[in-house]
Amino acid sequence: MEERNVIIIGSGPAGYAAAIYAARANLKPLLFEGFYSGPAGGQLMTTTEVENYPGFPEGITGPDLMQNFRKQAIRFGTECITKDVDEVDFSSHPYKVVSQKIEYFAHTVIISTGATAKRLDITGARDGELWQKGVSACAVCDGAMPIFRDKELFVVGGGDTAVEEALFLTKYAKRVNLVHRRDELRASQIMADRLKNHPKVNILWNKEMVEVSGSTVVESVSLKDTQSQEISKHDAGGVFFAIGHSPNTAFLNNQLKLDNVGYILTEADSTRTPIEGVFACGDVQDAIYRQAVSAAGSGCMAALDAERWLTHNGIG
Ligand code: NDP
Repeated sequence: MEERNVIIIGSGPAGYAAAIYAARANLKPLLFEGFYSGPAGGQLMTTTEVENYPGFPEGITGPDLMQNFRKQAIRFGTECITKDVDEVDFSSHPYKVVSQKIEYFAHTVIISTGATAKRLDITGARDGELWQKGVSACAVCDGAMPIFRDKELFVVGGGDTAVEEALFLTKYAKRVNLVHRRDELRASQIMADRLKNHPKVNILWNKEMVEVSGSTVVESVSLKDTQSQEISKHDAGGVFFAIGHSPNTAFLNNQLKLDNVGYILTEADSTRTPIEGVFACGDVQDAIYRQAVSAAGSGCMAALDAERWLTHNGIG
């Protein structure tokens, strides 16, 4: 039975950054990039231009950025497997990681499976329709694109993310319409007040988005009033879903402590989980920042935590 020093599960900025650090520490990491669960490279593979990743003054596309991360990880000796991990077993050490019925064993495991932004499953917003053609689930990633300039933009959701995204979009939009299914925001008071007082924001209470329309890009949205059930159609140049994220933790089968939404809980200022030698980084344990650069930073932390754990235990 071959025992790896480090297995990394997940291939966004956190996973690849962890791999770069672990590989440079000569730990020969094995990284599961995922396959059916989503493209290797994670959420950035579905974005276009990334303008806020430091080091790229002219911007870089999400896929190019992730390709660079991947190349850098491989250059230092990371072994990448383009498969999903189906299950893990942390009940005995070395830990077992199973992919397509093949068992792998490792002294340390770094979990960086990310989170998936939730999307409304409505006509016009699906893959192959207007998704990524004016429909997005990340205003910070996509909002500055020219197609959204001076347009009527619609943000769906009533939490802090929706408010933050709506306020962010006011920089570019003609007007930002926040569509919320209730008559009260879930967002924190300070954020809610900021939104309500913004001259470019229009809050549409008790409304559900039921359809997005347009020939090649978003041209209009249909909203249903949750009380009268009346449907109204509105001109629109963009739609942003901000209805929460789902951390990708199902494969853990409750072996790690999660918060009430499903994010992995780690010790403060570290990537350590309550299980010795198991670390979590990136969006799967970060409900707050969720940026490529913060994910990469926590991937680096996870690799350093794993390296120290191995040294402390006389392994590697
Ligand atoms: P939340 O779960 O807090 O909010 C999700 C929002 O989407 C809710 O208003 C919910 O409506 C709405 N929603 C959910 N499903 C649907 C649906 N199917 N149709 C229509 N609306 C829907 O998620 P967030 O991403 O906003 O925030 C997650 C966590 O991150 C929170 O703890 C938040 O405080 C934190 N955060 C903090 C920030 C900050 O401090 N700067 C920034 C961003 C997030 P309803 O209210 O009716 O349930």
